[in-house]
Amino acid sequence: MLTQPLVSSEFRTRFPQPHAIIIGSGFGGLAAAIRLGARGYRVTVLERLDRIGGRAAVFKQDGFTFDAGPTIVTAPFLFEDLWRLCGRRLADDVDVRPLKPFYRIRFNDGTALDCTDDLDEMRRQIAQLALGDVAGYEEFLGLAKQIYEVGFENLGHVPFSTWTDMARVLPDLVRLKSYRSVHSLVSKYVRDPRIRFMLSFHPLFVGGNPFKVTAIYGLIAYLEQRWGVHFAMGGMGSLVRGLSGLIEGQGGTIRCGADVVEIIVQQGRATGVRLASGEILSSDIVVSNADPAWTYRYLVPGARRRRWTNRKLERANYSMSLFVWYFGTSRKYPDIPHHSILLGPRYRELLSDVFERKCLADDMSLYLHRPTATDPSLAPPGCDAFYVLSPVPHLDSRIDWNDAAERYRQAVAKRLDAIALPGFEDHIVTSRIMTPQHFHDDLLSYKGAAFAMEPTLMQSAWFRPHNRSEDIDRLYLVGAGTHPGAGVPGVLSSARVLDTLVPHASALV
Ligand SMILES: Cc1cc2nc3c(=O)[nH]c(=O)nc-3n(C[C@H](O)[C@H](O)[C@H](O)COP(=O)(O)OP(=O)(O)OC[C@H]3O[C@@H](n4cnc5c(N)ncnc54)[C@H](O)[C@@H]3O)c2cc1C
Repeated sequence: MLTQPLVSSEFRTRFPQPHAIIIGSGFGGLAAAIRLGARGYRVTVLERLDRIGGRAAVFKQDGFTFDAGPTIVTAPFLFEDLWRLCGRRLADDVDVRPLKPFYRIRFNDGTALDCTDDLDEMRRQIAQLALGDVAGYEEFLGLAKQIYEVGFENLGHVPFSTWTDMARVLPDLVRLKSYRSVHSLVSKYVRDPRIRFMLSFHPLFVGGNPFKVTAIYGLIAYLEQRWGVHFAMGGMGSLVRGLSGLIEGQGGTIRCGADVVEIIVQQGRATGVRLASGEILSSDIVVSNADPAWTYRYLVPGARRRRWTNRKLERANYSMSLFVWYFGTSRKYPDIPHHSILLGPRYRELLSDVFERKCLADDMSLYLHRPTATDPSLAPPGCDAFYVLSPVPHLDSRIDWNDAAERYRQAVAKRLDAIALPGFEDHIVTSRIMTPQHFHDDLLSYKGAAFAMEPTLMQSAWFRPHNRSEDIDRLYLVGAGTHPGAGVPGVLSSARVLDTLVPHASALV
C-alpha cells in the first residue's frame, strides 16, 4: 500500500514533484519514462552504457549504420500512443513504412515463400507448395485472431499481480489451448513442414522454442497480418531518438554511463539507487528495465527477496542467445529482400541443439537483414549494410566465445555463401560480431540470454516476474523479462501495465 513517501522533508521541499528513477533505456524503459512523465512524475533514466536503446542501440562504422538488435516493427500503434501522450504524432518525428513483402522464407529444398498481408497472394503461394493446406492455413489464422484478441488486446497490458488475476483468465487459456505448444497447435491445421514452419516460427522472435512455448504465441502470426511489418527509416535508432526527444520534451532526464549497482530498500520500500561511482539518487519509485533476473540477483539484497530467491532464479529457464554478424559490402545485392529467413535442413532438432543440448551446429538456420533494400542511406553509395543472425545457446553452454566466435563466424559465412550470397566475403569492407557474452557483460542479461526468461506457459503472466515487485514496495519492472514478455510490442506493453499499477504522481505529493 502507498502511504507516506519515505523521503526526507528537505528532498521534498527541493523537489515537490514525485521522482521516478528508471534503470535502463531499452524500449521498455523509455516507454515507461514517457508514461510516468505524462502522469506527473519527474523522471530520470539511468543507462549504464554510453548510448541509449539497449538491444535497440545503433552503431556506425566506416560509413555504415547498423541496428544492433530489433529490425521488425509489428505494432506501430504502440509507438503512436506514446507520441499522442506527448501531444505529438509519430509521423512528425519518424518515417515508419510498411514493408511488402514482410519477409522471405527460403526453405532448404530451394522453394521460398514471400509472407505478406495480401491473403489472396498467401493462398496462391501456399497452394503452389501444398494445395491441401490452404484451408487449414485460413482456419489457423481464424484461431490466431481469437488468440490475439485475448492474449494481446485483453491481457497484454493488464497486470498479473495476484493468483486471482491468473485464475480469471484460465478458462480463456484452456479454450485457446494454451497448454499446447505453438508447433503442436499449428500441426493440427496444416501438414506440409514448410507451412508448419511458416505459421509456427514466430516465438523465436521473442526467444522461445516453438516446440515448447505456449500456443498463446500463435497470436504473433495474426499480429503481423493485422498491423503489418514496418521499418523505421534511418533504422530503429530513429525510434529510439524520437522517444528520447519526447522524454526531454516532458522535462525528463536521461543519463548515460550511470551504472546502477544497488536498489536502495528502506523498510521494505525502494527509495532510490546507488551507482557504481558511489553516487546515491533518491526517488519515490524505482522502475527497473534491466533484466529482472539480474535486477533481483544483483541489485536487490538477498535478504529482501522472498519470491525471486537466487535458487529460484537459477532454476528458471532462460531464452536462447544470439550470434549476430554485422557487415557492409562494397557492392549491392538487389535480389536479396529486406528480411530473409534462410532455413537449414533441421527444425526441431536444430532448436534442441540450441535450447536443450546447448551446442553449436554447422547447418544453422539464419535470419539475414538487408536494411539498405528499403533505406539506402544506411550505407555509402553503391554499398549494402547487412546483419546475419543465428540463434545460439545461452551461456550455460560453457562455450568460450573468445575462442569460438571467429570459428562460428566462418561457419556462418560458409552457409551464407552457399545459400544466399555467393562470393560475398570478397566484398566485405566492414565487419563486427556480437556474441552471448555481450548480452551478459554489457546488457547485464542473466546467462547471456537474448530475450530474458523463456516464454513457456509456466513462466508467463502471473508466473513471470511481476510488473509490480512481489517483495519490494514501489519497485516496478518493465521490459522483456516481465509481463507480457520480449519483443518490441511486448516491452512497450509492459510499460503500459504501469498505468494500472503506479499511482498518479498527485497521490504521492
Ligand atoms: C539481435 C536482436 C534482434 C531482435 N529483433 C527483434 C525484432 O525484429 N522485432 C522485435 O519486436 N523484437 C526484436 N528483438 C527483441 C527486442 O529487441 C527486445 O525484446 C527489446 O528491445 C528489449 O527491450 P527492453 O525494454 O527489455 O530493454 P533492453 O533492450 O534489454 O535494454 C535494457 C537496458 O538496461 C540497461 N541496464 C541493464 N542493467 C543496468 C544497470 N544496472 N544500470 C543501468 N542500466 C542498466 C542495459 O544497458 C540496456 O540498455 C530482437 C532482439 C535482439 C537481441
